[in-house]
Amino acid sequence: MLNVPSQSFPAPSSQQRVASGGRSKVPLKQGRSLMDWIRLTKSGKDLTGLRGRLIEVTEEELKKHNKKDDCWICIRGFVYNVSPYMEYHPGGEDELMRAAGSDGTDLFDQVHRWVNYESMLKECLVGRMAIKPAVPKDYREEKKVLNGLSHEIQEDFSVRVVENVGKIEIVLKKKENTSWKRLGHPLENHNLLIPKKDTGLYYRKCQLISKEGVTHDTKLFCLMLPPSTHLQVPVGQHVYLKLTITGTEIVKPYTPVCDFLLSEFKEPVLLNNKYIYFLIKIYPAGLFTPELDHLHIGDFVSVSNPEGNFKISQFRELEDLFLLAAGTGFTPMVKILNYALTNIPGLRKVKLMFFNKTEDDIIWRSQLEKLAFKDKRFDVEFVLSAPTSEWNGKRGYISPALLSQFLKRSLDNSRVLICICGPTPFTEQGIRLLHDLNFSKDEIHSFTA
Ligand code: FAD
Ligand code: NAP
Repeated sequence: MLNVPSQSFPAPSSQQRVASGGRSKVPLKQGRSLMDWIRLTKSGKDLTGLRGRLIEVTEEELKKHNKKDDCWICIRGFVYNVSPYMEYHPGGEDELMRAAGSDGTDLFDQVHRWVNYESMLKECLVGRMAIKPAVPKDYREEKKVLNGLSHEIQEDFSVRVVENVGKIEIVLKKKENTSWKRLGHPLENHNLLIPKKDTGLYYRKCQLISKEGVTHDTKLFCLMLPPSTHLQVPVGQHVYLKLTITGTEIVKPYTPVCDFLLSEFKEPVLLNNKYIYFLIKIYPAGLFTPELDHLHIGDFVSVSNPEGNFKISQFRELEDLFLLAAGTGFTPMVKILNYALTNIPGLRKVKLMFFNKTEDDIIWRSQLEKLAFKDKRFDVEFVLSAPTSEWNGKRGYISPALLSQFLKRSLDNSRVLICICGPTPFTEQGIRLLHDLNFSKDEIHSFTA
């Protein structure tokens, strides 16, 4: 037997029924039919007065648009400029004006629930209502939850910094796969943008994971960041390491390196966002480095937030990059090299001139030579101040002769940047020589204390 529903016509929720009982239609002027409205919306005319721009609308702003010739209405969080639609509205202008400058969702639902307003009013969309910060009913209840979020998140998260655009993307993963009704609220002193000049140095305790000899007096230290911490040191910047030595806190600056020169030698490569690497020369008579060297795996070192005045924008449209490094002055050059070779599209040439006393002092020599073999844009020259008689390479100190021969532009007018770092007298001498060779201030970046 057929199951035929005993349904009256029109159906209880149909447009005809609700329209006949719920509201009255008003006669529309000639040329103001639904078809005419659709034609107008397809005509390309600016119906919002914002030339296609979508804005965030505050309650105060919404209230201001409450006149027939300037009428905004909010429906389910979206704001529409309904003035151009007034004459086409089958329920009449006065009906529409009841919601002028306010949230008309309830009114709309009473009479229009079935109407596909999103597509009808698409060309009238002004934007979204600005979200008011949710105030939790019970603050104490909210406080129990981690990170100010209303639910727990996994410890692992990823941060992507697009430096040239200035955007930061943070991806958090829910601990439980449930739908969140609200996000929570920021903890005290969180969700703030503080100008860098107003922030103090903040230290986090990092654990020593490994310590490996690189040369006879230089070691690669790997520190692990505390859980749920993100510390990204920009290219060319340094941090401060802090240790308590005989009851006094001692702080020294160090420039983190990345492991890109090591990656083909070591497996597995440690995840960069959890670990921070330093190449540090141990001075037996020094204050800080012997103490650092005496730390055991598992001990802690405090690491500050980054500082420095090197800017990625200095690489803009760069064609030739020259790096002059002496001893551990090589450390800022590691990230610079990595960044330049992977991120500067028009880069033609990268040359490193690396000054050391002896062959034994050269940090990552074979790695640099391999890179030069692999990437034709890169070249390295070692200069030794106290070589053995077997040394066939360049010898001596930074000099006009060495520099003028080394700093050859790939084209007569190519855009050049020269970075220099080493013992202060070396750097100062280098800057003087570069000026003598007619390089401008903008073409030189010196790393100094
Ligand atoms: P110090 O106590 O400063 O002594 C250093 C040397 O000077 C020792 O040989 C000591 O015997 C000698 N000395 C000290 N006092 C005297 C004196 N009165 N007369 C004669 N000689 C003296 N270093 C790195 O290894 N890696 C890096 O990545 C790195 N990054 C840096 C980034 C910046 C921005 C700066 C400014 C420096 C950086 N350094 C780096 C150097 C680092 O900060 C320290 O200066 C270095 O580690 C020496 O510290 P120390 O306390 O062990 O030695
Ligand atoms: P080093 O071994 O003492 O010197 C490296 C080379 O530079 C040697 O050939 C040395 O020659 C030569 N040199 C030293 N002084 C010179 C001068 N006045 N003129 C010309 N050549 C000179 O170097 P290091 O012990 O590794 O020290 C590295 C330095 O870099 C430290 O002072 C550190 O603070 C600095 N650094 C700075 C930064 C930064 O960002 N600002 C980062 C890392 C390191 P001789 O030994 O034969 O004289």
